Amino acid sequence: MKVLLLFTGGTISMVRDAETGALHPADMQTFKAFVPELFAGDIQVDMIPFEPLLDSSDLNPDNWRQMAHVVQDNYDAYDGFVILHGTDTMAYSASALSFMFDNLCKPVVFTGSQLPVGVLRSDAKENLLTAIEIAAAYDTDGKAIVPEVTLFMDGELYRGNRATKRNAEHFSAFNSYNYPALARAGVHITYNRQLIQPIGNTARPLHVFERFDTRVAILKLFPGITEEVVAAVLNTPNLRGVVLETFGSGNAPSHEWLYQSLRDAVNRGVVIVNKTQCNTGSVSMGQYAVSLNLLKAGVISGYDITTEALLTKMMHVLGEHGEDLAKVKKMLSVSLCGELTNV
Ligand code: ASP
Repeated sequence: MKVLLLFTGGTISMVRDAETGALHPADMQTFKAFVPELFAGDIQVDMIPFEPLLDSSDLNPDNWRQMAHVVQDNYDAYDGFVILHGTDTMAYSASALSFMFDNLCKPVVFTGSQLPVGVLRSDAKENLLTAIEIAAAYDTDGKAIVPEVTLFMDGELYRGNRATKRNAEHFSAFNSYNYPALARAGVHITYNRQLIQPIGNTARPLHVFERFDTRVAILKLFPGITEEVVAAVLNTPNLRGVVLETFGSGNAPSHEWLYQSLRDAVNRGVVIVNKTQCNTGSVSMGQYAVSLNLLKAGVISGYDITTEALLTKMMHVLGEHGEDLAKVKKMLSVSLCGELTNV
């Protein structure tokens, strides 16, 4: 089996600067020297590094395109792909790539670590070596076991567009609050096969959607939010989409001015999607009187999607279909690749 390792950077690749004490990305040779196991097993591993290696806080849609193209350009030559990535924005990148790939039939596994690879207690090796094993896991019929974009960390494999970074301290940095783990790695790797996306059509090529519209914003409501703050966001020039982070099951203060500002934005063609500030559970507009105004203003439900998945999905559907607002709204209301449950 052959796995391609795309190395974007992140803590996993970092060393501490002797003068400042700050972590910064190391070079490839230093990294390879720390993980000799990579080149000693049955799986052939090749590496492509980003130049320079980056902290994931510096990544943007251009880098998502870069990652997707590495997969596409090497698609036939490898059985699976592992993307080494900083944990800070890994859930955004994993979500973005899940929307970019059409007809994915091979595993694309994101992983990283909370401690640099050279540190004694580092979680880097375990995460990396297990991610490689998952990327190379095939059934006897020649089909990949997990043919989707996933994120592996601390023994758990999550659907990439369901994962959220929840912890800046523990090795268990991610969780998938609204969808169970696709696999768990203990002594053996146990796959929850009924939860994994069905494989694409292996006779058809992989297609990459690469357009993103970044004219989007996240508006997080809070008790006491003022009309000026809401207006500043909604009146951003050329705004196309807003992730509206609401309370509980999708509720908002019942101010007439809030309803009016949202209504006006929707009438100007801005797509607004309701995302609960809760990690677990779903938006259910109309359950309480305080969400009826949002419904009347034309706000769409995001159901149980994560903010990372919603934001990248919004950029993707606006980028690909921005001229057809009805289609954009429809696509935001349904699951494209397992990112939400709308029941
Ligand atoms: N700042 C780092 C990054 O996201 C954190 C990490 O990798 O865990 O690149």
